Order: sequence, then structure tokens, then C-alpha cells
Amino acid sequence: SMEELTSTASELNTRHWKLQQEAGIDIIPTGDFAFYDHMLEAIALLGAAPPRYGPAEGAEIDLETYFAMARGRQDETCDVTAMEMTKWFDTNYHYIVPEFYRGMDFRLASSQPFTAVESARSAGVTNPRPVLIGPVTFLLLGKTVEEGVDLTALLDSALDVYAEVLERFAAMGIEWVQIDEPELVMDLSDEARTLFDRAYNRLVWLDRRPRIMLATYFGGLRDNAELALGLEVDGLHLDLVRAPEQLENVLAGIGETTVLSLGVIDGRNVWRTDLDRALSLLRRAADAVGTERIQVAPSCSLLHCPIDLDREKTLDPEVKEWLAFGKQKLQEVAALTRALNEGESAVAEFFEASRDALERRHSSPRVTNHEVQQRLAAVTDEMTHRATPFPERIKLQQARLKLPPLPATTIGSFPQTREVRRLRADLKKGEITLQEYENTLEEEITRAIRFQEETGIDLLVHGESERGDMVEYFGEQLEGFIFTRFGWVQSYGSRATKPPIIFGDVHRPAPMTVRWSRFAQDNTTRPMKGMLTGPVTMMQWSFVRDDQPHRTTCRQLALAIRDEVLDLEQAGIKVIQIDEPAMREGLPLRRSEWGEYLAWAVRCFRLASSGVEDGTQIHTHMCYSEFNDIIESIAEMDADVISIEASRSRMELLNIFEDFVYPNCIGPGVYDIHSPRVPSSEEIIELLHRAMKFVSVERLWVNPDCGLKTRDWPEVRASLRNMVAAVREVRKEIERSSV
Ligand code: GLN
Ligand code: ZN
Repeated sequence: SMEELTSTASELNTRHWKLQQEAGIDIIPTGDFAFYDHMLEAIALLGAAPPRYGPAEGAEIDLETYFAMARGRQDETCDVTAMEMTKWFDTNYHYIVPEFYRGMDFRLASSQPFTAVESARSAGVTNPRPVLIGPVTFLLLGKTVEEGVDLTALLDSALDVYAEVLERFAAMGIEWVQIDEPELVMDLSDEARTLFDRAYNRLVWLDRRPRIMLATYFGGLRDNAELALGLEVDGLHLDLVRAPEQLENVLAGIGETTVLSLGVIDGRNVWRTDLDRALSLLRRAADAVGTERIQVAPSCSLLHCPIDLDREKTLDPEVKEWLAFGKQKLQEVAALTRALNEGESAVAEFFEASRDALERRHSSPRVTNHEVQQRLAAVTDEMTHRATPFPERIKLQQARLKLPPLPATTIGSFPQTREVRRLRADLKKGEITLQEYENTLEEEITRAIRFQEETGIDLLVHGESERGDMVEYFGEQLEGFIFTRFGWVQSYGSRATKPPIIFGDVHRPAPMTVRWSRFAQDNTTRPMKGMLTGPVTMMQWSFVRDDQPHRTTCRQLALAIRDEVLDLEQAGIKVIQIDEPAMREGLPLRRSEWGEYLAWAVRCFRLASSGVEDGTQIHTHMCYSEFNDIIESIAEMDADVISIEASRSRMELLNIFEDFVYPNCIGPGVYDIHSPRVPSSEEIIELLHRAMKFVSVERLWVNPDCGLKTRDWPEVRASLRNMVAAVREVRKEIERSSV
């Protein structure tokens, strides 16, 4: 109920304030709690709910409207879909995208920031620091839904609300407010710069306001340093984990009284801090501006890391002592603060223990595997190229696979029914024997195969029912990974992920998927795809080690996947799909670094995939992101076939192929798997016709947008039948037109 929801929220708030107090944190943030995500909180604060959600004029935005924006609403009074959601910078945290229209006006429509301060005070927090998303970041992350929206006018309207909020904070006796402007670490247009100037020129000159701590994170200010330093706020927060080099630059240009909040504890990863290094950064700053102008902080919100390492009772003890989750990071903040104020001897033990743990981490044989490093050093350019160019090898593959034109396939997973999930859980709990597990799984796979054969799918999959999560499944079979029990990180709303931790050199002690792929292939005369998760996605969806460059970790993963690819080939699997849905997510925040990232990411994929014979067909799959601006890199991956999400945008994706000829085969998704809706074959035919305008028939494949694990069998059966019916119809048309 609404009551349970709000009382749980207040319990959580109190618990987390207490946690910080107990750790010895002096300045405690408030208003950083969100029922869904913190951009939606800002939408509510500014009264920026789009009219279709029907908020009463002048009133507060209530929780019902709030959740209608987040999740859509369907009842007697209204039928609205959720607002668009997208990723928060380069995190896996999502936010609801604000919508801006002409003549829009903001108004103060939430009292949440003020009640949070009051609750914190009654919980004994003497020095609360409210956190707000900055007005410029809010505007830059939103989207204009019609022509002619004047951002400057919108900003002015938002500033009226911010001014009111700051004045009220001042009246409540608040000393500092934190305003988050992570857009300051991005490439900024001239317009954006003007908005920053305009916004802070107004806010700093308010008569009554708390001091403003302008927070930047996820990167360095770089070319925006001058802009940020010119805003004349009272304090500036820097991410010195991602960008320690910016400190000197900032020290050189900092105002005479400006306070520096230095983010020296990594809020984005799970490792224990190198306290000596952090302290030397803090000392450097303190020497320059005086200790009283320094605050010690995590690099960004701790919402991006798991909460408490102490809860992990079963974690490998050797690796455990190398880690720090949210609660442990608070202790590190407090220890560094004391070391800075009172000298290191005040926290000698804490420092010593930390040093020892780090030392053990660096020298641990668990981290370093010489064999892996030697293999990596021996990687040749040749290993990242298929032996023969695509036009040649595709002929061999076709001769071998004998697939009809417009081959129909799926992306890999079939519905993860309750029975399938229970089966895996029962095995884990030891409630069934391995033999029982395998027998039941074989039955499940066989059913999936018979269904595909009967339906007329051309290239089959085994259904992935042995996998819960596409990264965890592989990580659990690789060396160099560990898994927490409670290391959940919020993704959005009540959704969370539990990323694996990569702590050491990665390698594959034994084949991972061959047993199931071989069983499946032996069970049908049609070709069966082997299904793997690619190195970039494995890395992107894990906590990655911070003691070597990401590209090195990624190459190790690539070698492990390469081994699996070759074993599958040996086992008679003629088609192998290596999924890389997270390829785009790894893009650096700054455009100037995209090229470098894409070059190594593509190379890692090719290292994983290029060991096979010409006649073995490599597929890849990508979904739910913008592909247009990286399509050339996608082509460079040189997969023989790519399946790519396209149906939700009605194949708009394909517009890029007007200017850019995709060289290999491509299967643009013909139906949206996020909806239980069954697409008609007419609809699919229409999408195929559209696709045929951009992609020649010889290179076109037919498949859904993504895996089907979240769907139920009845709709999957019906949808795939319609998909095959559509394919057959279009094949007839092609035949007719060629005679
Ligand atoms: N092969 C995976 C599946 O079908 C791909 C999932 C994904 O793209 N995220 O579930
Ligand atoms: Zn997908």
C-alpha cells in the first residue's frame, strides 16, 4: 500500500543516515532518495509532469502521478504509457527523460526536499546537505517534444523554482546545498555553456541562500574547467578517481574562498581505496588552499555500488578483503578525513590494515596468471582477422548450411518459465541431483527444438534454459570472477542487477557450453547456433578490476570466449553467435575518446570470433541502443550475420543504410519482444518489405528484436508462427518476381 511504501522509504532513509553518522561522516546528504529515479524526482520538484498524466494545476505532484510517469497507467480514468527511460551517463542506472514543450512553465510541485531535511534532523542529523539535480543538467538531459522550445526561457522558469527552494533551505538554516551538474564533464555546446553562466549567475546572487556545492562526477572538467571555475559557487566537487589529473588545473584557477570537495573514493567500483594515494591528493590540495577548504568525499553517489560487504558471509575471504562496498567506503572517507586533520597516526591501524590488504591483492597468485599474460602477449594481428574476406567465406557457409533465402532464426533464449527457473534453483540448493537436472533440461531443449522444427524456423537455438543471466552463466565458469550474494545495484525503480566482480586474470578452465550445444545439434538435422556472450558485454556488465586497463581485461575475456568458439566448432557446431548488446554502453563520455574505445572493443570481438574456419558462420546480436553513429565500427566487427533490434523504430535503423552499405548479412528485428502483443504476419511482411529497400535479399535475415526469455510460450508460439508465415509469403513474392 501507499502507506507501506512511504514508511519503508522513511525507514531506509533513517537507516542510511544512521550508517553515515556511525561511520563518522560530517556532512550528510538528504533528498538523495528516489522512489523511482532522481531525475523523476526533479521532474516532480519542478512540476514538469507532461499534461497527459493530468496533474491538478497548482497542486503537488502526488505519488500516483509520479508512478504513472514511471510505469504508465491503465485504469478507468486514463490509459497512458510510461515516459521514456534512458541510461544515466555511463552507468547502468536509468532515468526518466523529462519532456519539454512550448510554453512550458515550471512551478514548485514537491515538498520532498524539505520534508527530507526535517526527517533527517529528527533522526539526529545535525548537518544535512540537500542534494538537487542542477537546472542545466536537468535541461540538457531532457528532450524537446515539439519545435520551437526555448531552452533559455525554460531555464529561467526552472531558476524561479530553484531560487524558491534555496530560499526555503536558507530559512530552514541549511548551510550547504549540493547541486549536481555532471553535464560539466561532457562535451558542451556553446548554448550549454551560456545556460551554465546564466543559471549560476542568477543563483549565486540570491539574497538568501545556503552555500552552493556544485558537484561534478564521472569524469574530468577538462575544457570546461574555466567555465566551472567561473560560476562563482561556494564549493566545487571533483571526481578525482576518474580524473585525478584535473586537480592541478583546478587548484591553479580556483577562487580565493572556494571550498573543494574531493572525490577520492571510487563510487563506481567495489575496490578498497589506495588510501596513501588518496591522502596524497588531499594533502596536495590542502597545501594549496588550506585544510579548512577541503572536504573528503566519494567520487560520486554511492548508489552505484553495493551496500555492505559485511553481509557477504560466504564470499571468498582472500578476495573479500580487497573490496569495499558503500558502508566500507564511508569508513574510508572518515579515515582519510581524520588523517588529513589530525595526521596519519590518528588512524594508523586503519591505514595499515588497508595497505596490507592492498599489498596482498597485488601480490596474490589469484590475480596474476602468467599463462594468460603470455597468451595475451602472443596475440597476433592475424588472430583478429578471419582468413578469408566475407564475400568468399559466405559462399562456403551457404554451401554448408543450405539455408533458404531470408533465413528465419531467433536470438537465443526461449521463455524462462517458472519451471525452468525452479529447476536451476533446485540444483543450486541441492534439492535435485545433477542427473535429474540434466535430464529435465534435455527434455526442455528437445521440446524447444521440436517446436522450432514444426514452426519452420531455419536456424535453430537450444533456448538457453540452463542460463539465468547471460554474463553470470559464463562468469561462473571462468577463473578470475567472483559473485556476491547481496551485491545488488539499482538499475531503476525496484529493478536491480547483481554484477559479477572480475578480480584476476581471466581464463577458461574447461568448455562452458559445448555439452548443451552438442546435445541440441545431435537432436536435429537443422543447423543449431552455439550461443555465447561477447567479451565487451561480459566486461561492461561486471565490476571490473582497477589495476589494469579495461582493454586488457577485455582481451583476456576475448581469449576465453575464443577458446569456447573453437571448441564449439570442433564439436560440429556450424554457426556460433556471440552477443554484444553492451557494445555501445562502453562508449566514453567524451566523443574524442570514442575512436580509441571502439578500436579495441571491435578488436576484442574479432579476437574472440576470428579463429574459426571460413565455413563456420559467426553471428552477433545487439539491441536497445542507438546504432547509427557507430555503424561503421559494427561493420568492422566483421560478423557474418548481425541481428539487431529495429522493430520499435519501425526499421528507422535502416535509414543509415542509404548512405552506408552494411557489408555482411543483417537481420533487423521484425517484432518487439518487450510487449506480450502478437504481431500479425501482415505487419511483419510490411517490415520485411521496408527492410528489402535497404538490404539486398541475399543478405537479409529474419528474427525478433531480442531474446524471448521474458515472454510466455503462448505468445512466443503465435508470434514465431506469424513470423515464419510472413517469411514464406515474401519468399514466394521473390520467386514470382525472379521468373
Ligand atoms: N542470446 C541472448 C538471449 O536471447 C541475448 C540477450 C540480449 O541481447 N540481452 O537472451
Ligand atoms: Zn538483445
